[in-house]
Amino acid sequence: MSAVASHAFLGDVDRMFDRAAATLQLPPGLAEKIRTCNAIIQIKFGVELRGGYRVFTGWRAVHSDHRLPAKGGIRFAAIAGQSEVEALAALMTYKCAIAGVPFGGSKGALCIRPKDFTEDEIEHITRRYAEELIKHGFINPSLNVPAPDMGTGEREMAWIADTYRKLFPSDINAAACVTGKPVTQGGIHGRTEATGRGIQYGLREFFRHPDDVRRARLDGDLGGKRMIVQGLGNVGQYAAQFLSEEDDVRVTAVIERDGAIISESGLNIEAVTNYKRQTGGVKGFPDARFVEQGATVMEMDCDILLPAAMEGVITRANASRIRAPIIAEAANGPLTFEADEILLAKGTVIIPDAFLNAGGVTVSYFEWIKNISHIRFGRMERRYEESRGKALVDALELGIGKPVPESIRKQLVQGADEITLVRSGLDDAMREAYQSIHEIISTRPAVKDFRTAAYVLAIERIAQCYQSMSL
Ligand code: GLU
Repeated sequence: MSAVASHAFLGDVDRMFDRAAATLQLPPGLAEKIRTCNAIIQIKFGVELRGGYRVFTGWRAVHSDHRLPAKGGIRFAAIAGQSEVEALAALMTYKCAIAGVPFGGSKGALCIRPKDFTEDEIEHITRRYAEELIKHGFINPSLNVPAPDMGTGEREMAWIADTYRKLFPSDINAAACVTGKPVTQGGIHGRTEATGRGIQYGLREFFRHPDDVRRARLDGDLGGKRMIVQGLGNVGQYAAQFLSEEDDVRVTAVIERDGAIISESGLNIEAVTNYKRQTGGVKGFPDARFVEQGATVMEMDCDILLPAAMEGVITRANASRIRAPIIAEAANGPLTFEADEILLAKGTVIIPDAFLNAGGVTVSYFEWIKNISHIRFGRMERRYEESRGKALVDALELGIGKPVPESIRKQLVQGADEITLVRSGLDDAMREAYQSIHEIISTRPAVKDFRTAAYVLAIERIAQCYQSMSL
């Protein structure tokens, strides 16, 4: 993304914020205080590589520390910039507030094309970047906790955690300095797919509200709806897979870097993902029509368009041609402000990023709690629940005089393990967030769209927090 475009991204997030703040009666200056990025560090650090030295540039922004730690991913991308990082950090603040995650918002980026380096080199660079951020207080279990984002995953998070641990061996909460770690390194089950899972739970909740579904001039439930997915990375892949396999959503097209594949009868997402892993793209995927100009496929007929890759993919240039009645923002910032206004005027329902993709940070929150409490979820109660369940089944069988069917017995005697609890907590967070947004959009005439409602929710919650603090 060019510097100009990334600058526009920050402006767009701020305009979306302003549109929501304008519907509220806040004390003078408070909206500006909430909108402003509190701190940003730019670091340029040298790394010994291939018999010489290379200088890398990275950033980490703390948009808000009204609650600590500040939270948000680190992306590795060939083109990254300060204002893009600020925009993404702001989205993290709003996202945490909307999802009920008691954290501030942060984000980091490192200018790097990971493909140009070997694994050992990436490890070396990641550890140097982490060292610099740790040194300046921008990674710390109680102040600032990164997580994966574009171009990073659990591998990088494990290196970051290890770097922190080496610098602070006596910090008993060292593992909580970063989330999205491998389960073997203090991670939590379900974090990898959490953003996709959250999108599934968020969309399910939307379809439980027929009045909201009617806003999109649709009816019925999620089952049978036709969806176009743009971007099959970590977020898009899991969201599309869960929705198609568990909710009967028909994925009629997938757009990737090399083009798009279309199949009206529905694509098997697992098969497409495996194909992409093997070949590097979607071109040539069997039983599907390939279109070289992938972006145009976003304009095709469907019920739900799921942009799940980069920011700024729907702009003034293509917004009016988007036919989907629902845009479900799986990525951060896929619509520019202008695109948003054009689509709202057309009556498109936009389910906003700051709500819909909050699953990742929500499960990160669970991981952080697991790390600072030094015990995995379910450890204390699982077997107890099982014996209670067994006693219940025994009593039931005694009462009815016949055995309880095996499927019911299994459900009743099972104590919850970590993944079950993570899913339950995530489902609860997504439902509750949606219901709060729904309450705002359906009771406040000045709030006409879901993004504004979500921002209103965030601003009110953050404002409340600031008003109880001495600034
Ligand atoms: N990078 C993810 C996001 O944009 C996750 C952040 C986190 O888990 O802290 O929401």
